[in-house]
Amino acid sequence: MNALIDELRATLSALERDGLRRRRRTLDAPCGPLARIDGLDRISFCSNDYLGLANDPALIEALCDGARCFGVGSGASHLVSGHIEPHEALERRLAAFSGFERALLMTTGYMANLGIVPALVGRGDAVFADRLNHASLIDAVLLSRADSLRYPHADLAVLERLLAQSRAKRKLIVTDAVFSMDGDIAPLPGLLELAERFDAWLVVDDAHGFGVLGPQGRGSLAHFDLPRSERIVYMGTLGKAAGASGAFIAASELVVEGLLQRARTYIFTTGSSPAIACALLASLDLIENGDARRAQLKRLAQQMSTGLAGTRWKLVPSPTAIQPVIIGDNHEALRVASTLYDKGLWVPAIRPPTVPKGSARLRVSLSAAHTEAHVAALLAALRELA
Ligand SMILES: *Cc1c(COP(=O)(O)O)cnc(C)c1O
Repeated sequence: MNALIDELRATLSALERDGLRRRRRTLDAPCGPLARIDGLDRISFCSNDYLGLANDPALIEALCDGARCFGVGSGASHLVSGHIEPHEALERRLAAFSGFERALLMTTGYMANLGIVPALVGRGDAVFADRLNHASLIDAVLLSRADSLRYPHADLAVLERLLAQSRAKRKLIVTDAVFSMDGDIAPLPGLLELAERFDAWLVVDDAHGFGVLGPQGRGSLAHFDLPRSERIVYMGTLGKAAGASGAFIAASELVVEGLLQRARTYIFTTGSSPAIACALLASLDLIENGDARRAQLKRLAQQMSTGLAGTRWKLVPSPTAIQPVIIGDNHEALRVASTLYDKGLWVPAIRPPTVPKGSARLRVSLSAAHTEAHVAALLAALRELA
């Protein structure tokens, strides 16, 4: 008899019963518009490889050259001896590209968020968070021990009221720039105005905007042409549009120095591979010169939104690569996803707790590597199911 084991088994059975149990599939080929699973190709609408760079020959070449010159492992944390020339070059490049004084390379976006919030606020301070923020931001607030005040999605009026009522010594507003399950863009100009007026930090998580939005893919702040205020802490990830892995924080010189000294997820972890940094330098060239890829992405998003008009499938209006189709019920979302899968179309069904209860959905994620024919095949299958 073992009560802990019994309880764990019951928890897993409950997930199964509620249609919430997740399963992995193993791909036999690189990330791309076609995913080969069990010897069969399926059109994949799953990845965050928005510009189609994850398997790009230039990145592969840069990674291999980088490994030959600088090795595979960094061997230590950045502050000990794991900060190698390509890391430094990449930080300079990311700072210039995002328009800030300085950038700090992090191992993942999850770690970046977990580093930023506790380094800036703590017990007795207040964090104001959009209710649809990514899990990593929610965890970051918990880790900081600051009071958490969540405002309804993109609701500047409620946020203003909460800020006005707050007696906290330090205030921090935190938001996804592009919401990962809805694809809509946060009202960043309004958020910055409130941050200025109430003397708060503004943390912007641009996981889905970096490389995609703004001139040359410079991200959501560039999309709105916002000043790079000293109170903005910008986080971009490098595993999505940039096609590799990692993340960076960009801010003023002072703020980045503060994070370098205090962010525990920076200090107490091994530096990422220098070869990845080399691949990312190549990726930034392609992002900067990637207007054709971004135009293709825009065309495909347009094709999606017009293609489902007049069916019972409700597409969340989204100007980005994330095009969610709301289903509602968990089991039905799974059924639709599984029917599509049998037809050779792989679209993930996203269920709670990733999205609010009753809003299970297909998260159609587009890439510049998709063709119009790929999207047409998905639209035809969805229309048939409707
Ligand atoms: C993916 C994602 C992250 C985490 O980034 P990783 O580099 O994958 O750890 C953080 N925030 C948002 C909004 C994301 O979508």
